Amino acid sequence: MAQICPISPDSLQRAKAIIASGGLVAFPTETVYGLGADALQEDACKKIYKTKGRPSNNPLIVHTDSFKNALSLTSLTPNTWQHDAFVTLGKLWPAPLTLVVPAASLFPKTVTAGLPTVALRVPQSQAALKFLQAVHTPIAAPSANRSSYVSPTTAQHVADDLGEDLELILDSGETQFGLESTIVSIGERNACLLRPGALTYEELKELIPELTLAKPQSEQETPSAPGQLALHYSPHTPIYLREDAPSNHSPSHTALISFSATTQEENTDYASITTLSDSKNLNDVARKLYAALRSLDTKGLDAIIVDTCERDGIGRAIMDRLERASAS
Ligand code: AMP
Ligand code: MG
Repeated sequence: MAQICPISPDSLQRAKAIIASGGLVAFPTETVYGLGADALQEDACKKIYKTKGRPSNNPLIVHTDSFKNALSLTSLTPNTWQHDAFVTLGKLWPAPLTLVVPAASLFPKTVTAGLPTVALRVPQSQAALKFLQAVHTPIAAPSANRSSYVSPTTAQHVADDLGEDLELILDSGETQFGLESTIVSIGERNACLLRPGALTYEELKELIPELTLAKPQSEQETPSAPGQLALHYSPHTPIYLREDAPSNHSPSHTALISFSATTQEENTDYASITTLSDSKNLNDVARKLYAALRSLDTKGLDAIIVDTCERDGIGRAIMDRLERASAS
């Protein structure tokens, strides 16, 4: 069974030894907890796929501790639009932002799923940066949950999912943002938002006016990122967006996740109401959403009904995840 350890010189030393010997360490970031392996060791990266049950065609995000190190992991050509866009967006690092760019030739196929590009991120959380500095190698890491289940926002969530398969889970408490990173793919002349996150489309578009939104999955011929497959991030209990919820739901077997304070009447309509924010503060909603889904998923309910919000700012990321979780 995995040991949950706060970040300390001792736990970082242990993490370093496990990573160097080709093992896996779960670690906190500001988005969700990651399941990390040395991105330069093929067999270590294969363990990530095996442990998560992740399809082998879904590439991993590589984490490093500085823009300079990130740049060295690319094959970008100086004085090109693509290089300049990487520099412009890379200035936002450390941040909950992943950039997809042409890969340096040093990555095993397992990391990039054989693509010519690699997804790179310099995370913002101090705990993640301490881990990356201690291990002194780029770390490939998806979220530390079984494939297609809800991402973990606490060390205990990781232990619940993968505790049997891991030695060490580094713990720095609840993650700051609670949703996976924003992903931007930088092409030769344009950039595309593959996955919305806490760093918003509106903020990024200010810096790169060429930035476009990826087409919804239903309109794509082939998925631009396998992680964008519709059914993803979902609990076992059926999820309904509030506007699509069945009108004849059984109050004793249905829970509501609300984004603002609820009324007395609503209280009798549900077995329980989880209020993520009293005043629809969407940063609070994003931070607490996955823990609420995980907790309600253990209650043997028939359905979980979830509030909705405008699809802009961080609301775009919240609705993206809820639409995936409720896709059937
Ligand atoms: P996660 O499963 O949360 O680690 O998310 C990783 C995401 O990054 C998935 O959606 C992947 O498809 C995406 N990704 C990683 N590498 C690439 C790449 N080279 N091109 C496009 N998307 C990528
Ligand atoms: Mg994931």
